[in-house]
Amino acid sequence: MNSRKRLLLFATKLGYQTRMFNVAAEKLGVDLVFVTDRCNRLDDPWNDRAIGVHFENAEAAAHAVLQAQRETPVDGVLAIGDRPGPAAAYVARALGIMHNHPASVEACRNKFRMREVLRDAGLPVPAFRSVAFYPLPEPALLGISFPCVLKPLSLSASQGVVRANNREEFLAATIRLKHLLDAPEIRATHEPGLDRMLVESYLPGREVAIEGLVTEAEPRTLAIFDKPDPLEGPYFEETIYVTPSRLSAKEQQAMQKSFLDSVRALGLTNGPVHAEFRLNDEGVWPIELAPRPIGGLCAQALRFKISGTAELIGLEELLLRHALDLPGANAEREGAASGVMMIPVPESGILEKVDGQEEAKRVVGITSLEITARLRDYIAAWPDGSSYLGFLFARSDDPANVEAALRQAHARLHFTLTPRLPVEHPLAAKRQTGHQA
Ligand code: ADP
Repeated sequence: MNSRKRLLLFATKLGYQTRMFNVAAEKLGVDLVFVTDRCNRLDDPWNDRAIGVHFENAEAAAHAVLQAQRETPVDGVLAIGDRPGPAAAYVARALGIMHNHPASVEACRNKFRMREVLRDAGLPVPAFRSVAFYPLPEPALLGISFPCVLKPLSLSASQGVVRANNREEFLAATIRLKHLLDAPEIRATHEPGLDRMLVESYLPGREVAIEGLVTEAEPRTLAIFDKPDPLEGPYFEETIYVTPSRLSAKEQQAMQKSFLDSVRALGLTNGPVHAEFRLNDEGVWPIELAPRPIGGLCAQALRFKISGTAELIGLEELLLRHALDLPGANAEREGAASGVMMIPVPESGILEKVDGQEEAKRVVGITSLEITARLRDYIAAWPDGSSYLGFLFARSDDPANVEAALRQAHARLHFTLTPRLPVEHPLAAKRQTGHQA
């Protein structure tokens, strides 16, 4: 009998993060099976170990996974990214595997529902309402005051999130957001609620992220990341994350308390949680919690030390150990300060050239630079876009040095982007011609 443990990893993208899970699984001697909506890609290296599903119908996806796994035992379930979360939760529930309740995960997939749950639990939330795009909303009639933030109900990575300071900006942002949500590549996700937006009052303040891990309803903070760049809009693409936090001990305690209260309010009981908060004179405001780890390459900023050894492991390995109940899941983050810069897209365009990479890598403290945007591909700036040009990583003994290294290295990089006229997305063309792939 095969005694190797087996984990189902739910992911929309088979890329860097799934590769890191694969490496960790090989090291731990566990079997990974990918559940994905991308497994018919030709370059999929896990063809024989991937189950293809459509995440937009979570229960049907879960049913397909259960059928495919009828003969084989499963010991753990993990989801990375936002879209696969509900399907993973239904599968875990059906298999009797400790995981978040599907209703909790569903609540985290809808920004309006999340606000309702947090408000009803007595947590501070901005004034919010769900607003249809049609008829074109008139803010005064809806009791909307300024500044406010408009956002899609279910996208991520700050895509489509826009601040408006007055009626004109509100109307322009509404039309822009509607246009984004009407784009064929967004429609193709079949996300619910693409005909509405969430409008909420703008919360001033500093922003912080918590990377956490919940075990039987007990959340543990793996890292608090400061976001030292002001995020004041009109768009909110992320840039620098640095840990440990330089907030005062009192502020960090307040953050952790808000994290604990929010996790409890949403009923998240097991697995990774990535959470964002704003901090101002009135206290800590949960912006968003997602039952998944920090996205993609950013996890490289985190390393954990298994107690009693000198061994450093990555977040993926920590999560596998946690999900499969293997020793080492309680590893603490290393002592060094660490950070990542998600390299912003200065303007939409075709990426022609990247200069200064060697100079950037030579900056003291920089540990790696990954340019992830492909040359000659079109890349969209925020709020329409959701992909960065790449990632810079730094480590040092002090978070201020990490931040300085990231800024210096970024200043040495130069990206040449040439504007292009918008062209029709291939899916739109397909629809019009009735062509089927
Ligand atoms: P996403 O899931 O796409 O990242 P969020 O709701 O987390 O969407 O919003 C993205 C970013 O927009 C936040 O990290 C924050 O910087 C900013 N933001 C969102 N809502 C507000 C708000 N009410 N007040 C101020 N800033 C906000």
